[in-house]
Amino acid sequence: MNFATNFYSEYKFKKSTWFGFFEKYMVPHIADRIVLNTPISEIDQSENQVILTTGNGVEYSADKVLITVPIKVLQSNMINFTPSLPTAKMDAINSISMGAGMKAFIEFEKKFYADITIEGKLFEAISTDDKVYYDAAFRKGSEMNVLGLFSINEKAERFTSLENDEQIIAAIISELDEMYSGQASQHYKNHIIQNWSNEPYILGSYSYDFNGSQSQIVETILQPVDNKIYFAGEALSIDSQATVHGACASGMDVAEMIINQ
Ligand SMILES: Cc1cc2nc3c(=O)[nH]c(=O)nc-3n(C[C@H](O)[C@H](O)[C@H](O)COP(=O)(O)OP(=O)(O)OC[C@H]3O[C@@H](n4cnc5c(N)ncnc54)[C@H](O)[C@@H]3O)c2cc1C
Repeated sequence: MNFATNFYSEYKFKKSTWFGFFEKYMVPHIADRIVLNTPISEIDQSENQVILTTGNGVEYSADKVLITVPIKVLQSNMINFTPSLPTAKMDAINSISMGAGMKAFIEFEKKFYADITIEGKLFEAISTDDKVYYDAAFRKGSEMNVLGLFSINEKAERFTSLENDEQIIAAIISELDEMYSGQASQHYKNHIIQNWSNEPYILGSYSYDFNGSQSQIVETILQPVDNKIYFAGEALSIDSQATVHGACASGMDVAEMIINQ
């Protein structure tokens, strides 16, 4: 379907991304306080201060801790809490589903593909949006021909469960060859795979469904533990769940709550 060319043009992130936005406007103010590559494996709040311990035994302490790891990381018990998180909170955490997620960007010598191709029955596919091939250079003024693949949940699993990126790109090219009579392998130049399910500290895409009332589940998780442990992140934004701006708003709301307590 090449209808999009007629009325839509990329205007916001032509040569930038959300990542660049944060690097430019947020990070410079807090760069000296960010500690990267430091996964926390233990959170102990049995004493006055909260003690956070990394996998290799380095400790950090704080009066209060705001946890913003992906919901799947909390579900997989990668972080050990002392005392354990209340059962109601763990039940709420476990009632959110976060499926597989991936993106691929493939450069071709020529544009033989449609502006956007959504797999499935039209209305169902548009509302669930779980597998989309799209022209990633769409009206960005680029000379390059880059096809994007965005996929989440079951449709993504077909790719994310493969052993490595080579197998993923082979599966994508084979599917495109079937759709476009062999043109994908004929015009292929380069690719980047982003397999979010395979990222050890992400484990998938984003919160997708709630087994129960979303507002009740979110409210239960947002309840601080002993006024020391707090949670935020995309899954806990009621208005903009599953987005970058939702994650930011959630973090800001909880930070404000902590400061005003
Ligand atoms: C394929 C795909 C496409 C998307 N497209 C869009 C889009 O177009 N627009 C949009 O708004 N959103 C999009 N999203 C969703 C968006 O990326 C997320 O909603 C957002 O990044 C969530 O932010 P967050 O801060 O809650 O969690 P994250 O960004 O996942 O950050 C959590 C952080 O916690 C860290 N962490 C995990 N475990 C530990 C630990 N034990 N110790 C210390 N740190 C830890 C992780 O390394 C990570 O840095 C997309 C997501 C995917 C997967």
